Amino acid sequence: MDPRETALQQAYDHAVRWLASLSDRRVPARASVDEIVSALGAELPDAPSMPADVVDLLATACEPGLTAFPSGRFYGFVVGGSEPAALAADWLVSAWDQNAVMSAVSPAYTAVEDIASAWLLDLLGLPGESAVGFTTGATMANFTCLAAGRDAVLRRAGWDVARDGLAGGPAVRVVAGVNRHMAIDLALRYLGLGQPELVAADDQGRIEPAALRSTLATGATPPTIVILQAGDIHSGAFDPFIESIRAAHEAGAWVHIDGAFGLWAAVSPAYAHLTTGCAEADSWATDAHKTLNVPYDCGLAIVRDAFALRAAMGLHGDYLILHERGDPSDKVPELSRRGRAFTVWAALRSLGRSGVADLVERLCRHASAFAAGIAAMDGATVLNDVVFTQVCAEFGSDERTDRVLARLLDDGTAWISGSTWRGRRVVRISVSNWSTTDDDVRRALAAIRRAAVDI
Ligand SMILES: *Cc1c(COP(=O)(O)O)cnc(C)c1O
Repeated sequence: MDPRETALQQAYDHAVRWLASLSDRRVPARASVDEIVSALGAELPDAPSMPADVVDLLATACEPGLTAFPSGRFYGFVVGGSEPAALAADWLVSAWDQNAVMSAVSPAYTAVEDIASAWLLDLLGLPGESAVGFTTGATMANFTCLAAGRDAVLRRAGWDVARDGLAGGPAVRVVAGVNRHMAIDLALRYLGLGQPELVAADDQGRIEPAALRSTLATGATPPTIVILQAGDIHSGAFDPFIESIRAAHEAGAWVHIDGAFGLWAAVSPAYAHLTTGCAEADSWATDAHKTLNVPYDCGLAIVRDAFALRAAMGLHGDYLILHERGDPSDKVPELSRRGRAFTVWAALRSLGRSGVADLVERLCRHASAFAAGIAAMDGATVLNDVVFTQVCAEFGSDERTDRVLARLLDDGTAWISGSTWRGRRVVRISVSNWSTTDDDVRRALAAIRRAAVDI
């Protein structure tokens, strides 16, 4: 048999076993890094091994050190699972091994990226003329959008940053809410824009439009970027887009929205009001590997002015075969990369319009069930208005909250991370996995109750 076939069969068997274990498996990993290193062996062998044996060793040795991220009871950070069609499509992406760089070379990839892009703009309620770049995640999607914005505001000020660099040019002013995600600061750092000027937010983390307006009114009107947020990682709150975008545009600013998980509220009639006004912005970053539940890694950089995105990211080299319709690589920082749009297409094609809305509504319904269940526990308080998929709660004092978290991880039924929000330690729950069921929520709430009892 072809060694690829036996290796793939081995991988298939292990993958199916792993997926079947999720419903009852402890969520945290059982083994440490050192234990996995010794199970794998640290020495590079001198001689080749059979591919199927290598896959078997990898899967067997790593299994105890795997965290059940795709479990319906993983609620840490903001982490999606993998929709079945997207997971299977991702295997094909590896087997096909298309380089998603040039239209002329992989017509199938370009076709799928074009269809998926149009579906995404439609579902998210964003302008149909926008360009969509498929990045590694929301950090790089924010980077990509902000690069387009930086170059565009400098171009309007008569400065060609692509040719002349940043040094000697006009300073770019970047304004963001105090509760922006740290990925924004990373992207700004990569872009040579330094730290943003911060604007006050309300008790749910929403930027204050009046404070934004007065910040923008001070000083002259340099090239400016305003960064808003759809979905705060603690409260799930959405910035007030209509007033904020109006204030920013009156000041001549480029408006970017980080909607890594929250932009997806737009697909549900029940939650779309949270994103009202969003479509007036100039660029939007979101993830497909969070709310949409495609496998890592996949983020989406969406820019209304397709020219601005191509000007920032496009490359023209003599050995490339440039296509008059544009190329996938015009919209992202990388050249060679895997065919990320295949998995997005598969998730969207499999769910359909109503399935994507159901997915979002289910995540929100589970978050509300968590909030109600925790609020009913003695000594527990839900701190945020649960408007979307995020819940923050505390158990009387920072110290008690941390003890509940430690016990929860020991218990292993669910994985829930702690954080500090509004100066207090919190238990922070993010419901982001398509496979979470009512029963998963019940089991996780029972684990929280066990952890909180006699603390
Ligand atoms: C997760 C997240 C990011 C970073 O996304 P990655 O996909 O991890 O790079 C940025 N902003 C917000 C609001 C997020 O939730």
